[in-house]
Amino acid sequence: MGRNGSALELSANTLNPAQERLMRFVLAASALLLIGFGSSPAGAWTDATRRRMVDDAIRLTPPALATVLERYRSDLILGMTDPLKGEAGEEHRQHPAGNYGRAADRIALHSKQAVTIIGQPHRLRLAVYALGTAAHFVADVDFPLNCSPGPVGDPVFYTNYVKYAEKMMPYFLVVLDRKPAPDLAKNKLEAFGKTAALRSSQFVSPIQSAYTPDGKPRSTAHFDEKSVPFGVASLSYSQAVNDIARLWAHLWRSAGGDLGGQPNLPGTPSGKPTPSQGAKGKKHGRSTP
Ligand SMILES: [Zn+2]
Repeated sequence: MGRNGSALELSANTLNPAQERLMRFVLAASALLLIGFGSSPAGAWTDATRRRMVDDAIRLTPPALATVLERYRSDLILGMTDPLKGEAGEEHRQHPAGNYGRAADRIALHSKQAVTIIGQPHRLRLAVYALGTAAHFVADVDFPLNCSPGPVGDPVFYTNYVKYAEKMMPYFLVVLDRKPAPDLAKNKLEAFGKTAALRSSQFVSPIQSAYTPDGKPRSTAHFDEKSVPFGVASLSYSQAVNDIARLWAHLWRSAGGDLGGQPNLPGTPSGKPTPSQGAKGKKHGRSTP
């Protein structure tokens, strides 16, 4: 604390505006660390959040694919959660300017593996694992703090926000996103990931502002269901579920699979609005076991 201590000894009226901004940042960061924001690193979404994400995404996939995914659900979950072991690495980040992160590249890599393996006899189980791994990296690019437009390095409240998102998960709504995904239509899998990262990156600054309004750190106790951090977490979760489902469907189609019988596939237009299967038509008390 020696350096912070000397910063605190500076009189405010000796600082120019840039120094004042720097000092506010130092104080906010050190205060956040003191109240436990700097604890051990966690994944962009926690293990529990990702498990529910998988189940919500299965509900948005065509019946033939959903049947396969359900049959090998444990492998799908492992594919999704195994990469959590290296979560702090560059593979799990995707900065929109392209200067840092390889998550979009990982989406493309594991997607291509999945399509290849789906076409091989008796290897469907392994293919489903690859679909789970591709989904892991889709979830990563749909987590805003993984896609900072700023310098490399996670914000001090990263882990705190991850845990907040898990805590609020029962209140998230999954809303079917019917917007087409042009990148997938062209089979540009890495671009699909980068487009998602660019969209996610716009939420980094609002989250930061909510954590440190006027430079003073806040705890998540201030974030109710009308707050920006809650809204961003809920929206990002829903976007991840949609992106995973539309990627799985695309890969399944690429491998020659049946896409019939699913009126609620993300990215497909509809003549009449249909409620999301994932949302279950209520806000609270999701009945997932
Ligand atoms: Zn990851």
